[in-house]
Amino acid sequence: MVIGAGFGGIASALRLRAKGYDVTIIDQCPMLGGRAQQFEKDGFVYDAGPTVVTAPFLFDELFELFDKNLTDYFQLVPVEPWYRFVYPDGSEFDYGGTVEDTIEEIGKFSEHDKEGYKALLKQSEAIFDVGFTQLADAPFHEVCTMLKQVPALLRLKCYRNVWQMVCHFLRNDKLRQAFSIQPLLVGGNPFSTTSIYSLIHFLERKWGVHFAMGGTGSIVKGLHKLMLEEGIKIHLNTKVTGLNVDNNKVKQIIAGEQVFDCDTVVSNVDPKHLYRKLVPQQSQTLSAKVKTKYSKLSMGLFVLYFGTNKQYDNVVHHTIWLGKRYQSLLDDIFEKKILADDFSLYLHRPTATDPSMAPEGCDSFYVLSPVPNNLSGINWEDQKEQYAMKIIKALESSIMPELSKHLVHHFAKTPDDFETDYASVEGSGFSISPTFAQSAWFRYHNKAEGPENLYLCGAGTHPGAGMPGVLCSAKVVDRLIPVATLANTVNKDE
Ligand SMILES: Cc1cc2nc3c(=O)[nH]c(=O)nc-3n(C[C@H](O)[C@H](O)[C@H](O)COP(=O)(O)OP(=O)(O)OC[C@H]3O[C@@H](n4cnc5c(N)ncnc54)[C@H](O)[C@@H]3O)c2cc1C
Repeated sequence: MVIGAGFGGIASALRLRAKGYDVTIIDQCPMLGGRAQQFEKDGFVYDAGPTVVTAPFLFDELFELFDKNLTDYFQLVPVEPWYRFVYPDGSEFDYGGTVEDTIEEIGKFSEHDKEGYKALLKQSEAIFDVGFTQLADAPFHEVCTMLKQVPALLRLKCYRNVWQMVCHFLRNDKLRQAFSIQPLLVGGNPFSTTSIYSLIHFLERKWGVHFAMGGTGSIVKGLHKLMLEEGIKIHLNTKVTGLNVDNNKVKQIIAGEQVFDCDTVVSNVDPKHLYRKLVPQQSQTLSAKVKTKYSKLSMGLFVLYFGTNKQYDNVVHHTIWLGKRYQSLLDDIFEKKILADDFSLYLHRPTATDPSMAPEGCDSFYVLSPVPNNLSGINWEDQKEQYAMKIIKALESSIMPELSKHLVHHFAKTPDDFETDYASVEGSGFSISPTFAQSAWFRYHNKAEGPENLYLCGAGTHPGAGMPGVLCSAKVVDRLIPVATLANTVNKDE
């Protein structure tokens, strides 16, 4: 039984099916994909969440498990530039292409930082070799695994935060911002996220940045088809309300009136929610209780989806629109938990790569603003429309002239929606944040700190959030669960 059909849950279901298990996957949502749902409105197609595909081989692997090819299910195409950074003074930095392309762009801002970038990339590669290649799909539930890694992590100075590491190599403030925002992609404040996460630089460099034609929703559709072909049973609109544990094993999954018997369970649910609401307290270890009580959550997200009746050809596929404040804005979001008047934004224009995602001559967009999670007490019902209009005005007065005149429709997701739609504790965008004290062995383990037949995947578990992270968490689960025995095997034709 797999509870939750985000990418972590789907990948776990496929991996266990390939091991011979009779697999059922359950989700409370009406669609598969978790945060990667897709909406359609008036002919405009919107991905709700993830859009930047890095490490595409992790998707390939899921098809290869069954001797199939990803390209028969959906198409991934490279995006160029990977991101355009737009600064308050109107200057732009295009990041992507070859190392030489990036160095040339860096030269627009700082001659000195050309060499600094090469050194930054080298350090990022060294961290990648340990943090991704060796550890991302390695089980981390035993303290000795962590202890073995301590010398390497110290050598790589992973006690520094991402901002400190970037400042060590780069002098220009605009470039420092561009090269330190990566933790925000996985829910972390660059000023408190361990520099392990600067491996993302090298990850992007190694495999590039891709987009799925038709949007991330087409990846979900492709995986849905694969699951059906392989005989995985899917129950949507089914909310799990509890687990029956007996003799330290989960025996049944309760979903309202429905009861599912089980012998092995993988949870793709936010682990804070899992341990707070689903696993009986007496069946949890002290470590699970401590993590659930004290772990810090990532920020929330305000995502505004909108269509325009014209095309903004000057807007590239991925834009990072930076506001005037950086550290103090992040402080407002992560520490003070106040909704500031200003913001920095990520703007997604999928129609730059796939025009079929909007009616002819139109564009579909989403713009994402990191905001405090729901520990803030912000009343989103009151704030939502006002905040949306502020964002529209800011885009209109910078890179999208006359935007309000060309808006066809708009709608938004706030941290409240994340809480109700995905059982995301306090509406956080990425489960618990990726600080050093919440990474690797310190993060929620992939083998439950509780019932012995319960395993965990997804953003709140090792190695962490983001599509590559949760796909790797499913690989860890795969390594922890033995090959099926006769008792839990079924012929897929049955
Ligand atoms: C707006 C946004 C943009 C992002 N952009 C990117 C990006 O560009 N690139 C990238 O790599 N990552 C990105 N991410 C991060 C990435 O999307 C997530 O980290 C990842 O998809 C989370 O996958 P997951 O396996 O943890 O499951 P989730 O997507 O969190 O899904 C978990 C599922 O479990 C279900 N569930 C919870 N409780 C229950 C219950 N009791 N019963 C039944 N079902 C339950 C939920 O409803 C949900 O469907 C983005 C995230 C967001 C929100």
